[in-house]
Amino acid sequence: MARAFVSCINETLLFQRYANAEAQDAYNNLRHADERSQDGFLLSLLDDFGMPASIKKNAFELYFSDFIRYTGRLRGPQWRLVNLLYRGRVTLAKGEIIQILAEAVRLKVLSGLPLKLSARMCEELSPYTSPLKHALSQVLLRQEDSGPVVLEACPPCIKALLMQVKAGKNLSHPARFALTSFLANIGMKADEIVLIYQMSPDFDYELTRYQVEHIKGSSGKDYTPPGCSTMETYGNCVESDDLCRRISHPLSYYRLRIKRGTGA
Ligand code: SF4
Repeated sequence: MARAFVSCINETLLFQRYANAEAQDAYNNLRHADERSQDGFLLSLLDDFGMPASIKKNAFELYFSDFIRYTGRLRGPQWRLVNLLYRGRVTLAKGEIIQILAEAVRLKVLSGLPLKLSARMCEELSPYTSPLKHALSQVLLRQEDSGPVVLEACPPCIKALLMQVKAGKNLSHPARFALTSFLANIGMKADEIVLIYQMSPDFDYELTRYQVEHIKGSSGKDYTPPGCSTMETYGNCVESDDLCRRISHPLSYYRLRIKRGTGA
């Protein structure tokens, strides 16, 4: 039923959140499964997901190709292949195997969405999906509310990057960093910045949120957006208007526009 609900609502952001919730649920269940039967159960689950594994001295052994397939978004030194690889296989503790299985669940759920449902079925489910749609529209609306205010005073480079994201283009790493750090510095909330990227073809809610929060300073380090000369070096200074010729940093452009009380 949950898959039917999100399929009728048909929003990428909701698919991502739902798949994450299922993965979290799977993770919690597997962590608390009965110890005695757990190893055998984990081995058969790994097999179901196409990752044949074996157990040696209380550790799980996986083919490195299966490991790579499911660990791309997991962070930390314990996931570095170079630290784990031996003769084409990697050795992992039970807790790490459970994280890999949760990621496999997330990708499996995501790959099956949206379900192909008839308009009539979605109509019949509307008493259940309407409140969800309403809650989601409030989240998306908050993002749109803050958009024009920011857009009005942003420099041409940032406006151009925003337009590219809205058109569904993937930004290069320097461009993504410039846009995220600029928006974070002018006070946009992490959630609102994440939602801006939802049109990107490679959008991944959790990964984007992690990157945004890192840039916003939750790691204890604040990042300042690149200045005009760096923007130019990476080809992100798309054009210069009169104000551009008098400043050397996109943030100065924005602050001057705000100070003048005009977005024009
Ligand atoms: S001059 Fe600076 S503010 Fe203006 S478009 Fe280029 S990088 Fe952006």
